[in-house]
Amino acid sequence: MDKTAQSVTILGATGTIGLQTLDVISQHPHRFTVFALTASSNVKSLFKLCQQYAPKYAVMLQEAAAKELTAQLKTIGSSTVVLHGEASLNYVAAHEDVTVVMAAIVGAAGLHPAMAAAKAGKRVLLANKETLVMAGSLFMQAVLDGGATLLPIDSEHNAIFQVMPHQRSTNISESSLASLGVKRVLLTASGGPFRNANLEELKAVTRAQALNHPNWVMGPKISVDSATLMNKGLEVIEAHWLFNALPSQIDVVVHPQSVIHSMVEYIDGSVLAQLGNPDMRTPIAYGLGYPERLSSGVSSLDFLLTARLDFCAPDMVRFPCLRIAYEALNMGGTAPAILNAANEIAVEAFLADQIGFMDIPQIIEAVLSAANIEAVESIEQLVAVDTQARQAALAHMRSLC
Ligand code: NDP
Ligand code: MG
Repeated sequence: MDKTAQSVTILGATGTIGLQTLDVISQHPHRFTVFALTASSNVKSLFKLCQQYAPKYAVMLQEAAAKELTAQLKTIGSSTVVLHGEASLNYVAAHEDVTVVMAAIVGAAGLHPAMAAAKAGKRVLLANKETLVMAGSLFMQAVLDGGATLLPIDSEHNAIFQVMPHQRSTNISESSLASLGVKRVLLTASGGPFRNANLEELKAVTRAQALNHPNWVMGPKISVDSATLMNKGLEVIEAHWLFNALPSQIDVVVHPQSVIHSMVEYIDGSVLAQLGNPDMRTPIAYGLGYPERLSSGVSSLDFLLTARLDFCAPDMVRFPCLRIAYEALNMGGTAPAILNAANEIAVEAFLADQIGFMDIPQIIEAVLSAANIEAVESIEQLVAVDTQARQAALAHMRSLC
């Protein structure tokens, strides 16, 4: 191992992004060392990863899972220290020996450790879009105050980052888009597995169908978000904070092949796009290597095989989640945090077969329209807002039964 190797914490190591990050790191053993790996409860997977990568720390959210992992690691004489709980996630995200933090926990649970990494001035590779949806203003301020380097991993935002003017790449949220000659950003969307389904078919969508995304392999929550187009709605809010883009400067274009990962249109009519095979190892390698390029294991894009690139407008009638997300962004303040919390509850219920697919937007809209929207003041306030919105979503769900 090289003495100049960068020390990496992976939050959410057992997830799809976490595992793909380890895949890229494995391809560059002299460049990176694994400092800490974290998971919620998946002992089996974290044990395997500890065996393979020998991190200094392994953190489990659940105490019982941490005890089990400690016992298993003892049998192989591992020197990995096992910790548990939220404070330990923050500890390994902000530790002085860490230079890079991959924030890949799913949902609002990822907020605190991502904030800890930002405040501690780390290079933050942000996959956890919910952090920006819940607390965009506070998170971007923490990045500035902490002197952190923020690199978007979400493929669309990574694509936009790559084709933004160079001066923007070093401090992505500080100047206005207009001052950089940018007219708008265009987020591409695959349209998900139900792009061509009618309303009746959408009402009958099952969990298994929703988890079967045509182009990307992803965890269950983001797969359902992609199917409802809430994922694109969350990404609109994410783009607002990352690129200082007004809602009117963010457009969504459905592009079923997922070859163009997003675009930036300049005032002179130029449109710059980033293309590639739909494989998250490309944005992950970009974040890990920045400003250098690293090999990622992603195969070359075969233009002759791709043959055509299609585009159409998103349908906000069949996919109301995208409309609701734009509305939450326009409302501002705590509205996006409420949207996010209600969505997490609705998606969890859908995944547990408790509600139908089209109940998801219904629940979110009901919670958002009944909520009292406030200006954002603190993380504590947002955590309370998140809890209240979850309770409101559960109450609304009970009224549906
Ligand atoms: P997964 O569901 O595959 O993985 C989630 C990870 O977070 C697992 O390691 C899980 O541990 C851990 N985790 C879950 N809940 C908690 C909690 N309460 N506290 C601490 N850790 C927890 O998700 P993905 O990898 O698909 O997505 C991760 C994030 O990246 C999401 O925010 C998603 O929107 C974003 N993203 C993902 C993309 C993708 O292609 N997958 C693309 C762009 C963005 P355990 O295994 O123990 O449950
Ligand atoms: Mg995305």
